[in-house]
Amino acid sequence: MIKNDLSIFEEIESNVRSYVRGFPTVFTKAKNYKMWDADGKEYIDFFSGAGALNYGHNDPKMKEKLVEYIMNDGVTHSLDMATEAKAEFLKKFKEVILKPRNLDYKVMFPGPTGTNTVESALKLARKVTGRTDIISFTNGFHGMTIGSLSVTGNASKRAGAGIPLNNTVTMPFDNFVNEEMDTLDYLERFLEDNGSGVDTPAAMILETVQGEGGINAARFEWLQRVDEICKKWGILLIVDDVQAGVGRTGTFFSFEPAGINPDIVCLSKSIGGYGLPLALTLFKPELDIWNPGEHNGTFRGNNPAFITATESLTYWEDKSFEEGIQEKSKLITEFLHEMVTKYPELEGNVRGRGFMQGIESQIDGLSAKVAEVAFEKGLIMETSGVNDQVFKLFPPLTIDEEGLKRGFNLIEESIKSLIA
Ligand code: PMP
Repeated sequence: MIKNDLSIFEEIESNVRSYVRGFPTVFTKAKNYKMWDADGKEYIDFFSGAGALNYGHNDPKMKEKLVEYIMNDGVTHSLDMATEAKAEFLKKFKEVILKPRNLDYKVMFPGPTGTNTVESALKLARKVTGRTDIISFTNGFHGMTIGSLSVTGNASKRAGAGIPLNNTVTMPFDNFVNEEMDTLDYLERFLEDNGSGVDTPAAMILETVQGEGGINAARFEWLQRVDEICKKWGILLIVDDVQAGVGRTGTFFSFEPAGINPDIVCLSKSIGGYGLPLALTLFKPELDIWNPGEHNGTFRGNNPAFITATESLTYWEDKSFEEGIQEKSKLITEFLHEMVTKYPELEGNVRGRGFMQGIESQIDGLSAKVAEVAFEKGLIMETSGVNDQVFKLFPPLTIDEEGLKRGFNLIEESIKSLIA
């Protein structure tokens, strides 16, 4: 067994490392919602690889398919060549995900990560409309490359670029404004005012539930109005479902219950199914004006990821999977409400929906403290929001009730130990 020793990370890895600080141990093994470290200590995973492990660690079916594929010398890397693994994925994605939801999208593989799909979406919106500006929202997070960062409404993340970024307008997200000022009224005024010198933007980009920004869920009516405004002004609506998609909020796409049909959808994280890098950009067929090669990336043909992604879609063939997520989400909501009522000292409010919920504490630093103590007790949980004011429950969708309850107990013990 390897030693539980963090010295090599401190010695040679850049100061940019982050999770190793929040979760200071060496992990060696993981299965569904459990992880183990080099001392054999067991952890409950309420983090799910920041949303990349919605089906838990080492899903047995995906593992079997992957091992079989590798043992049969399946193609591993293929850029955008046609492969059997990719064909199978596309067929199943169309049959199991798009068709039953009456969605007609073209699919592109923009590169392996979330930021790659956002970049391709921004490029496509500019190319289709011939316009440059993008409207994004406060507390939104879209990635770390210059384009995706430029639409990220969080100054501390943008600080990594060192310089101001261009061509974006950041508007207050839903629920961040008071009764006298509604973002969308303001936005319409702004679009109508030809004399303002503000050009009609190419696109708006948003997360329906902001993950990194503090688990801020937009109301469905708000999303519907955003959709209407976009249609009225010929602005493309980009939904970044990198974190909120693939079942995280209770339906495959986070926008389904709002009844909207975005022009462009960004998917990554759990779309690969097994924690393997894969990203998809979906867009309405009439937007497909790319010339061959205009957006590419070496690792857009990750065949092992196609194998696990295809297998992961099997979960969605059976309605009971989706119903199960929604049922288990209720337990999360109930638990969080119980915590804020039972422990008023938290000064907490419950946020989010589905398997994307958390508590925002008004007490400076308390949420981060809860996550820190929980980790010592054996629970992996992240905080989010500009001031880390939210602790975020992000278990795999495949967790059972027992696992959820074990996690809940550790959270309650941590809260109790901090406010006693
Ligand atoms: N969009 C959203 C909504 C995200 O949460 C993230 C990652 N946290 C990204 C984009 C960027 O994805 P990646 O880190 O894979 O580039």
